Amino acid sequence: MIDLRESAQNALKACGVEDAALTGGLTVRTPLTGVELLSVRETADVDAAVTAAHAAYQQWRTVPAPVRGALVKRLGQLIDEHKDDLATLVTLEAGKIRSEALGEVQEMIDICDFAVGLSRQLYGRTMPSERPGHRLMETWHPLGVVGVISAFNFPVAVWSWNTAVALVCGDAVVWKPSEKTPLTALACSALLDRAIAEASAPADLHRVVIGGREVGEALVDSPLVPLVSATGSTRMGREVGPRVAARFGRTLLELGGNNAAVVTPSADLDLATRAIVFAAAGTAGQRCTTLRRLIVHSSVADTLVEKLVTAYRKLPIGSPLEAGTLVGPLIDAAAWGHMTDALDAARRDGGEVLVGGGRREVDGDGYYAEPAVVRMPAQTDIVRTETFAPILYVLTYETLDEAIALHNDVPQGLSSGIFTRDQQEAERFLAADGSDCGIVNVNIGTSGAEIGGAFGGEKETGGGRESGSDAWRAYMRRATNTVNASGQLLLAQDVSFL
Ligand code: NAD
Repeated sequence: MIDLRESAQNALKACGVEDAALTGGLTVRTPLTGVELLSVRETADVDAAVTAAHAAYQQWRTVPAPVRGALVKRLGQLIDEHKDDLATLVTLEAGKIRSEALGEVQEMIDICDFAVGLSRQLYGRTMPSERPGHRLMETWHPLGVVGVISAFNFPVAVWSWNTAVALVCGDAVVWKPSEKTPLTALACSALLDRAIAEASAPADLHRVVIGGREVGEALVDSPLVPLVSATGSTRMGREVGPRVAARFGRTLLELGGNNAAVVTPSADLDLATRAIVFAAAGTAGQRCTTLRRLIVHSSVADTLVEKLVTAYRKLPIGSPLEAGTLVGPLIDAAAWGHMTDALDAARRDGGEVLVGGGRREVDGDGYYAEPAVVRMPAQTDIVRTETFAPILYVLTYETLDEAIALHNDVPQGLSSGIFTRDQQEAERFLAADGSDCGIVNVNIGTSGAEIGGAFGGEKETGGGRESGSDAWRAYMRRATNTVNASGQLLLAQDVSFL
């Protein structure tokens, strides 16, 4: 039997976390057994961390972007070297199975690669000026200190999406990780500190601030933080958004999802079944992109449901440390409470739990939930609510219009998918009057995005976009420049004056 605490300590040490950070008042429990792993020191003075990061930013912004990219390249190498250690911490703190924990660390390596390339591609446009001898163009400049607030379920990937891009954009970062997953944060931060020292970059370019909501609030309210990139529940975004707006700061909000897939009569049901089970039961239903609603054509509903129930019955649920486990624990007792409350509400609304919904005794006080499939007579309030647990609600439809209307009739707008072999149906789902989400897939589930695309969603998901494509623009400020080389003063729109 492996000693979880020792395993965490070894991984932290290998990443360079100092012992001093591991004595303090914030208790870290592992969802694997519910026992205390370690305790960490909370940050007393967030303002001091922000002020130091701001001073570092003032130096960093003048460093050429490709040189900034070299720092991120080194960070990616260090993460790669410590891939096992980081994945171990992700498993111990967030409860992910090994392949998903390694996958999350791989995302960090990938985004570092992306950001290194980006450091030579922070392009501004040149526009034709209406005046002869004039040049009209835009320049992208670093923004300042980016405040990153992250959730427990992607304890490291979300940080890296923000940080790798922010650093090449010339910003400094102050990171407030979830109070449930500070160990992974300390490990990442130690690796970045090492890369910063090796690159002779300003030491305070990155700071991690540890604690609960109050620590997040201090970051949110700081006038030295022009951008707050916050990932978490819609409740959190509803509090953070107006506070940052009140001081005219910017936010990048990545909030809750309530993702659905439409399954049409022409779908490959075997492919759909595999995709659905991963998207709905993987990560124990604790991804923002987890599949929570299935909208199935009535002609294939019974067949698909039968396939799903059969697959769910065989799902290996257990300790993520065991090879072969596919479904690990929920993060804590509160998450299990939310799951049982939601199942009770669904039953009251006429829903039938076809499989799952119980708790498995695996190890100590871990909350190992059996992923559930619930057939619903209608899209009731509980179906329209994000419950952060493995519950898949099944609804049926007759026409594609009806399916799309049901699909979009929820407050959230993160990820979506359609399973079909009919190109017209696929195109309709992708069109302006199709899915209203930020991520719209065909013949693939709702979870498991690649870093190359911009990630984020609409409506109560918050509207932010991070990671790939042109998401970098959120981390910079744009200056529009008019340069007059004509030797004459020509006013725009032919205005004459003086
Ligand atoms: P949470 O909202 O409880 O906490 C997220 C983070 O916000 C934590 O670091 C927390 O300390 C901080 N926080 C909470 N209230 C705050 C406040 N008022 N001011 C400043 N900071 C505050 O979320 P969680 O339980 O850790 O994560 C699960 C939620 O996150 C789910 O709703 C999930 O969908 C969402 N999520 C979204 C994405 C996305 O990209 N859209 C990704 C991962 C998770």
